[in-house]
Amino acid sequence: MISLAFVLLSLALFALGAAIGSFLNVIIYRSVHNESWVVGRSKCESCHKQIKWYDNIPLFSYFWLGGKCRYCKTPLSLSHPVIEFMTGSLFVWWFWMGSLFFRLTQHPFSVIQPLFWLLVGLSLLIIFFADIRYMIIPDEAVAFLTILTLLYRITLTLAGVMQPIDFVWTILGTLIVFGFFFGLWKITRGKGMGFGDVKFAVPFGLLLGWPNVFIGTFFAFVFGAVIGLGLMAAKKKTLRQAVPFGPFLVISTIVTLVFGTHVWQWYSSLLQ
Ligand SMILES: [Zn+2]
Repeated sequence: MISLAFVLLSLALFALGAAIGSFLNVIIYRSVHNESWVVGRSKCESCHKQIKWYDNIPLFSYFWLGGKCRYCKTPLSLSHPVIEFMTGSLFVWWFWMGSLFFRLTQHPFSVIQPLFWLLVGLSLLIIFFADIRYMIIPDEAVAFLTILTLLYRITLTLAGVMQPIDFVWTILGTLIVFGFFFGLWKITRGKGMGFGDVKFAVPFGLLLGWPNVFIGTFFAFVFGAVIGLGLMAAKKKTLRQAVPFGPFLVISTIVTLVFGTHVWQWYSSLLQ
């Protein structure tokens, strides 16, 4: 039975997530434009006029402004409401999953685990949207996710939740995928894959671990090929135009985190 408190808490978390999503948009914009994350109020990306607080309310403002800047009437990027909605949804999903699974873990992991996955989700959202909109994967997001995941894995290993040998295999898998991406980047001279994707291979590998990192890589190329061919068929892109690869890496990360183990079991059953 779902209680009223549960529904209200979900709504509050959605609003909080949407507000954080609005801030993520600022972080993405400032990262790719090499501006400070915290100094200065939000400005219109076109006329650079300061945005009033009442025009800066997540999700709502976009719609009551009709998707345009109040002053210069330049259309606002659809990425604003989309990222706000996605971040709100991430918080709600996280809360629902958390109230099912994280309760099973022992202290201090009952705190560390949900916090870790929420930060992973936010980092992946930043990378996804920055790459779609600006064809850039911010170094800050990659560095943050790498350090976060490394610390998490070390903590799990020290606490005996993870075996040290798994950690070694994970590092090895990460190096293999990093080398593979680096090779592709070299061979295609940056046309098939950006260097941001090569760097993203590190947190990608650490997060997925051995052997899921290979499943994730496989998924990313399948998704990339399907969507890339779809865009070409719809004549939205030509073969020579770059399609950012980061979003496919992010989607395959999530799909592999959720389904990777099943895929691996199915695949190894075929080999026996
Ligand atoms: Zn404007």
